[in-house]
Amino acid sequence: MSHTKTICGDLSTASPIGNGYAFAVTDCLFCKIAAKEIPAEIVLETGRALAFRDINPQAPTHVLVVPKVHYENAAALAAADDGLADDLLSACHIVAVQEGVSESGYRVVFNTGTGAGQTVFHVHAHVLGGRSLQWPPG
Ligand code: 5GP
Ligand code: ZN
Repeated sequence: MSHTKTICGDLSTASPIGNGYAFAVTDCLFCKIAAKEIPAEIVLETGRALAFRDINPQAPTHVLVVPKVHYENAAALAAADDGLADDLLSACHIVAVQEGVSESGYRVVFNTGTGAGQTVFHVHAHVLGGRSLQWPPG
């Protein structure tokens, strides 16, 4: 099976990991958190995903769920078509249950592209809950 994907950051020092088509990008903040090189308050770890609290929470529950391997955004993750997007969504729901917001309601957000507010170009789901969430979002 062949996969193509977009990688941001410095590839000169990128290391192949996992099944050989995913890369850790050495200047990527979330690759470093996933590798435990930068500390974060981890709330869930699965085989392929890591969930940790956002450093600047926008709700009582604000957890980021990331794949351990690097994909730039949700589009790149979806294009990989290897089940990882499913794993990420399942991890989001587990986080919501753990955080006690699954009954009251929670939001899963993938900011995709700078125009939508993406600032870290390693795909991540925001899991937000614990307060009333307005629609449409700002
Ligand atoms: P984006 O704007 O790309 O959708 O979301 C990036 C998120 O990463 C922001 O909500 C921001 O607060 C969070 N963030 C940025 N740097 C760090 C960090 O070093 N640690 C943690 N835990 N979150 C971070
Ligand atoms: Zn990364």
